[in-house]
Amino acid sequence: MKKIDVVIIGSGIAGITTAYYLQKNFPNLSYVIIEARSDLGGTWDQMKFPGVRSDTDMYTYGFSFNPWQGSIVAQGRDIKAYLTDTAKKFNIREHILFDTKVTSLSWSDNQWTARTSRNDFTSKYVICCTGSRDYTSPNFPKFKDENKYQGEIVHTQDWGDVEFKGKSVAIIGSGCTAVTMAPAIVKEAKKVTLVQRSAAWIVNVDGKEKSTRRNKSFETLMDYFHSRLFKKSYKKMIIARYPYYNNTNIPSYDYWDQRPACSLDNDYFDAVKLSKVSVEHQEISNFEKNGIKLKNGKVIECDLTIMATGLNAQLLGGIDILVNDKKIHMNDTSWYRGMMFSGIPNLFAHTGYINFSWTARCEIVSQRICRTLKYMEKKRLASCTPKYVGKESKPSIEANYVLRSVDKFPSRTYKFYNSNYYLDYLIFKLTRINDGAVDFK
Ligand SMILES: Cc1cc2nc3c(=O)[nH]c(=O)nc-3n(C[C@H](O)[C@H](O)[C@H](O)COP(=O)(O)OP(=O)(O)OC[C@H]3O[C@@H](n4cnc5c(N)ncnc54)[C@H](O)[C@@H]3O)c2cc1C
Repeated sequence: MKKIDVVIIGSGIAGITTAYYLQKNFPNLSYVIIEARSDLGGTWDQMKFPGVRSDTDMYTYGFSFNPWQGSIVAQGRDIKAYLTDTAKKFNIREHILFDTKVTSLSWSDNQWTARTSRNDFTSKYVICCTGSRDYTSPNFPKFKDENKYQGEIVHTQDWGDVEFKGKSVAIIGSGCTAVTMAPAIVKEAKKVTLVQRSAAWIVNVDGKEKSTRRNKSFETLMDYFHSRLFKKSYKKMIIARYPYYNNTNIPSYDYWDQRPACSLDNDYFDAVKLSKVSVEHQEISNFEKNGIKLKNGKVIECDLTIMATGLNAQLLGGIDILVNDKKIHMNDTSWYRGMMFSGIPNLFAHTGYINFSWTARCEIVSQRICRTLKYMEKKRLASCTPKYVGKESKPSIEANYVLRSVDKFPSRTYKFYNSNYYLDYLIFKLTRINDGAVDFK
């Protein structure tokens, strides 16, 4: 059993950000980053499907302490290289313990014990940088007669080395993944059919746009609040701006009820105009030997079916959490400022915004964590435990992955402004650490 000051779990954007701020604020503190995968990057190490790229601008998605120097939208492999470079530049990589999965965390006698697939650790603090989704089990809907299908079925989360050149491909799904992937598949496939249960909002990004972190933050949030305050006129404006929209593909929901997908330099809009591409707004009835049968009776012949059907949301990497031998069910907790949970001492976690860069939140949460640790050091405190307070939690966005997981998330939420980065930024900086919602002992 190794004793260390802080255990960080996960080496994606959140893990790297956390390590950067811990080192900066506490040069003498010891920490380890425990990572289940064989390399760092998290999402950007795992996602390998064709066309994978960022869907928020890189001015805000890059770190403020190592600004992104490339174009406004980045390809997945370039984000991975950027994260690798950042971890090396700030000497973070040598703290990562790869190929090691944390299986349980238990709190007793004012310390955490992290049980892993290799060594176990004790620490005063744990910071979960485990992302938002289940790494081993994506949302993979099962359809009738799938066993009769003679083609290949693959999910974008587990891409591997799938060959699509010269094939007839069906892409199931209409979210960000399907929209970014389709143009890349279309280039080499023989024929592509996009099967979408419902239409989604898609807008274009100009790949040559130049901006700054400050401008992009302001512009993105103004655009969001404009679309939420003036829902009808905003929808009309989008429809008028893009000739793509016609009476078959206008989404039934309001703009920003779900995260809009982005076409880059019109790649998606151009791809769907090609004669070898068709779009079906229909539900799937069942699989057949040579393809997919839709509920309207039409059969889509395909030898490769790609499930761009999204993720399964998961909190704290699915790790079992025990406090004084009692197992914690996340639905019995309240979410403190989107960074801690009631009844769970000295454990912090990262999550993102619905409408803004994930990295931006990781940075302000990491700074707040450092302020909390400094406060505890100064007052010689052993534990900080949020109270069960706050308003009843509501789904942050109407996205299916959120709706499917509501009962696995905290039932109450205390001051978590998941759509307002500016408010969060000010509150995290200006409010007292001992704000009445946390028990310090
Ligand atoms: C295709 C795609 C595009 C995206 N584009 C954007 C975008 O443009 N802008 C944006 O804001 N967000 C985007 N996101 C969301 C994205 O997940 C976050 O931006 C960000 O990468 C999450 O970083 P993270 O470090 O918190 O988590 P992750 O990247 O998910 O990393 C979590 C790490 O924790 C490790 N881990 C988990 N459980 C354990 C355990 N029990 N033991 C040990 N290790 C564990 C995992 O192996 C992983 O390496 C995108 C997501 C996807 C899938």
